[in-house]
Amino acid sequence: RCVEFAVELSRTGLHLRQAFFCWAIFSACELGVFDLLLQSQKPMSAVEVAQKLGTSEDGIERLLDVLVAIEIVDVEVVQGTAFYSSTDVANLYLAKTSPKSLHDLIIYNSQTIYPLWNNLVDAVREGKNQNEKTFGLPSEEIFSAIYRSEEEMLKFMGLMNSTWVIDGHDIVTAFDLTNFKTVIDLGGCSGALARELAKEYPSSTVTVLDLPAVVQTAQQHFAQQDDTICFQEGDFFEGEIPPADLYILARIIHDWKEEKNLKLLKKIHTACHPGGGVLIAEALLFENSRGPTMVQMFSLNMLVQTEGKEHPPSHYTHLLTEAGFRDVQVCRTGKSYDAILALK
Ligand code: SAM
Repeated sequence: RCVEFAVELSRTGLHLRQAFFCWAIFSACELGVFDLLLQSQKPMSAVEVAQKLGTSEDGIERLLDVLVAIEIVDVEVVQGTAFYSSTDVANLYLAKTSPKSLHDLIIYNSQTIYPLWNNLVDAVREGKNQNEKTFGLPSEEIFSAIYRSEEEMLKFMGLMNSTWVIDGHDIVTAFDLTNFKTVIDLGGCSGALARELAKEYPSSTVTVLDLPAVVQTAQQHFAQQDDTICFQEGDFFEGEIPPADLYILARIIHDWKEEKNLKLLKKIHTACHPGGGVLIAEALLFENSRGPTMVQMFSLNMLVQTEGKEHPPSHYTHLLTEAGFRDVQVCRTGKSYDAILALK
């Protein structure tokens, strides 16, 4: 028992080490370390970085040294002074200005997910999200909590946007969607996945339907020159769902309880053109729910912040069939999110 206990303890230590790495990266992102190093024409000393970012010299030096140890920042020592510079990986994924930047995702994790996970004990005890305890917001209004200010809405939309920079292409190519000429991405947020779809299927028209404030923010902050997609304000629970050949539900089902999802899928089935379909993008659990570990973690994450959870494929097949869809096909992409297609 002693040996087992020691092994467990050392594992906790290992996980804590990984958590420390994350905190170091999150803090460096929030402080703007990677943006500064990218913009700088030459390697910078800790004193220079501290002056530019308004931090303590000692604190930033310790942080930079950790970033060097995990190979996210390079260092060169000249006459006893350390000079720090960015690495390609930091420039690509951590600097704000890179098209592949994960900066928004990191900031959202740091400022929203971590505080919620601090109340995981209560979430497990109560079986409820922790929006009230963490942010003082009603637990049943999940999107009022997520969109509690304009700044928070932008952060959340940035987070949603960055996922599809990495996984979007795998979702839109999981099945051949060429025959679906009108596509509506319900709850499509910033439009990142819709743009991936429009890029892959240029002969289809792709519309994002989302809550009015989200659409306005998307148009103001995430629109692109010569945008390939349209936006429509709406409410998929309370309002009408416009007719289309294909509906996308990306990370929607995992937000809500079963009865709400069934109501939504039945509405979609009614609005859908004959021969049309619905494409669901979610992280799928194994059928026996014994993994993947990351998806089990996502499910705990849904517990702390929404009404929903992650599911195995059979749950989606059951919901879709119950709503009237047929020919349910599942594609595990090997990335964080998988795809399910069902036809009317
Ligand atoms: N589909 C996007 C993605 O995967 O990046 C966003 C997923 S996010 C978890 C849920 C989305 O549903 C948000 O954009 C939110 O604004 C939208 N949403 C929530 N309730 C809605 C409603 N009643 N009608 C329309 N959109 C809604």
